[in-house]
Amino acid sequence: MKVYKFGGASVRDAEGIRNLAKIVKSTNDNLMIVVSAMGKTTNALEGLTRALCQYDLRDFDRLYDQVVSTGELQSTRIVSAYLSHCGIGNQWLDMTQIMVTDNEFRHANVDMAATKENLIKTLNEHPCQVYVTQGFIAGTTNGLRTTLGREGSDYTAAILANLLDAESLTLWKDVPGVMTADPTMDSNAKLIEQMSYNEADIFLQQGAQVIHRKTIAPLRDKHIPLYVKPFLHPEEQGTLIH
Ligand code: ASP
Ligand code: MG
Repeated sequence: MKVYKFGGASVRDAEGIRNLAKIVKSTNDNLMIVVSAMGKTTNALEGLTRALCQYDLRDFDRLYDQVVSTGELQSTRIVSAYLSHCGIGNQWLDMTQIMVTDNEFRHANVDMAATKENLIKTLNEHPCQVYVTQGFIAGTTNGLRTTLGREGSDYTAAILANLLDAESLTLWKDVPGVMTADPTMDSNAKLIEQMSYNEADIFLQQGAQVIHRKTIAPLRDKHIPLYVKPFLHPEEQGTLIH
């Protein structure tokens, strides 16, 4: 099994979702596809939660997770339906029922053992070549939704890769790969073709934004290679972190 993760930019509109299907169609691998909310949906839902909170005295962080998590639930329903429409059989999975966390809302901590048990059980119950699920969101054992921190979908994908002993993880991004600088700020930014896990970890701890900083550890644990590739040019090499 390979894990593919598509961020908000890659599914921001209909064209993005068609492009995702094209990438999925070009491989025969078993896939776990992890998807973020479309475009800037999470920011919009954050604004909505703030507005709601003016009339509601419940705990903000807890309410935030219940509202904001709908962004990924919605985007993955659309992706799954479109893949089916294209003849790509797939199973939609609800990560809020699979990934178990504590109730540290907005920055929940994952229970790896409980999550593994749920994941294996669910996949056995629904054998399929392609699964579609949400990044960033999870749930407590008493049925509340949680989130793993902004931009946390990369981290979700790395956790799933670890628990599935995946062959590789690919993060499909709107940049050519990991660059020496942010290409939108520095026209001299160059692609880094390969990095070790340690080099990548240091780069991210120093503030590079291209990958969520918690992504490396679950992959290094199981020696799972990480590809960072441009979703508009899937034939390009991108960056390999191993
Ligand atoms: N949708 C979430 C966010 O924008 C998670 C992610 O994109 O990784 O923070
Ligand atoms: Mg995002």
